[in-house]
Amino acid sequence: MAGGRWIADYNSDRANGLPQSACLLRNDRIIEGLGVVERRGLSDLTPSRRWLATTLPKVNRVHIRTYGCQMNERDSEAVAAMLRARGYRIVADENECDILLLNTCSVRDAAEQKAIGKAGYLQQRKKKQPDFVLGILGCMAQNRGASLLEQLPDVDLIIGTQKFHQVPGYLDNLRAAREAGLPIGETIVDIAEEAGSQNTIKDHLGSETVSGEAVERQVNAFVSIQQGCNMDCAFCIVPKTRGDERSRPMDDIVVECQALADRGVREITLLGQIVTSYGRRDYVHTDGISPFVQLIERVHAIAGVERIRFTSPHPRGFKDDLVAAYARLRKLCPYVHLPLQSGSNRILRAMNRPYTRERYQEIVDALRAAQPEMYFSTDVIVGFPGETEAEFDETRELFEACNYDMAYIFKYSIRTGTPAAELGDQVPDEIKEQRNQRLLQILQRNSLRRTAAMVGTTEEVLVEGRDKSGERFTGRTRGNRVCVFDADPRLIGELVPLRIERATVSTLYGELVLAGVEREG
Ligand code: SF4
Repeated sequence: MAGGRWIADYNSDRANGLPQSACLLRNDRIIEGLGVVERRGLSDLTPSRRWLATTLPKVNRVHIRTYGCQMNERDSEAVAAMLRARGYRIVADENECDILLLNTCSVRDAAEQKAIGKAGYLQQRKKKQPDFVLGILGCMAQNRGASLLEQLPDVDLIIGTQKFHQVPGYLDNLRAAREAGLPIGETIVDIAEEAGSQNTIKDHLGSETVSGEAVERQVNAFVSIQQGCNMDCAFCIVPKTRGDERSRPMDDIVVECQALADRGVREITLLGQIVTSYGRRDYVHTDGISPFVQLIERVHAIAGVERIRFTSPHPRGFKDDLVAAYARLRKLCPYVHLPLQSGSNRILRAMNRPYTRERYQEIVDALRAAQPEMYFSTDVIVGFPGETEAEFDETRELFEACNYDMAYIFKYSIRTGTPAAELGDQVPDEIKEQRNQRLLQILQRNSLRRTAAMVGTTEEVLVEGRDKSGERFTGRTRGNRVCVFDADPRLIGELVPLRIERATVSTLYGELVLAGVEREG
């Protein structure tokens, strides 16, 4: 416990059978609803005080702003769903909220600075709106903990990556204390590890987005199956912010996917920091099939689920069983995000990435042999410390040979707290920019070639909903290409053939081929 700061002792309250929302603990004392009592006096909470703590009508509009990756998006959705179940409202407009939660990213220093800047601006709001609650969640909260208070002294909550499920309890506590007129001048900081926390990211919103917008029908869903990473890539902060690899029980994941399918979800994306490592400590291989592929097989067997995707894998996870799954499991979409990072074996070693360029190319070839239609995306870092022109050329050659449809190309930037931050021989910014541009040009060419080849063909598209204009509809092909077309709202959630008429680098435009698929009524 941080000295002098308020820490909500959620677990010990639960162990005492007390409502999570009833108390704040400071050192050995509990502040509950209307006063300060000794810890042992908690069992005397009256029903009216319990009501006060749990049924507060005010200060319940929450806005969540998410930075970073799909894992963060999914965590935010789970927090929003838990809050909604506790009576909070999720609102789209940050100016209309009582509670603003920033779910942060630490992947680069710049990502943290952006969130700190936003939080600094939001702190000012407390002057005009004293009840306003500001919380920082996720990776930056985990990475920086209470030290954030040096820059952000007025933040109310700092909640780490293993504590998302505690957010509703902490907010209940704050509301209860404020309603009771208690001074809340200190910050709740909770960044401890918690066994089993990976099992708590399971709630879904369904009828609205995490930014409070109504959804006509939820068609696709992310399902978190694994958290943390044990790989220690030299440039990456994730092992520090997300902890060790932890997998959810397979049965729980299947139950969640079944419930989503029962609600009309057609496409499931299995999510994890290193998703291909799923269950490797908890389940055995059966007949050469890894736990991850066993899980895919079980989700594949769920009626109603029509498409399965996953992200983010590690090249090391692409053994024969996973490659073969693309040939035999129809619902497994032919789209693989396969992080390359570098095409130079020396740089891969310096990055602590346990594969070679030759092995990477072998995986790509094997996947294309299993599924000729395969689409690929990747992550590449240019300008890793010490990367020579010849080493970049190796990356460029492999990048071109793999013919990616999509790529996230990063210029290396020092990430404080990672082993690579200690390396000398930094590549000058202008060289990084040149290398970045060279890969972007290749990507644009490859991507346009692929989409142009699709003009005139008919693709299976899952209709997801209206596009941004609200007038047309959008969906994706099995290869994850975004499509825009005219449709009837009743087709949301249907797999329909789309004749492609026009293509840009990233989007296909077409007309539905509706004969035989139009719904009655
Ligand atoms: S495998 Fe991915 S998440 Fe894990 S350390 Fe490497 S880059 Fe980071």
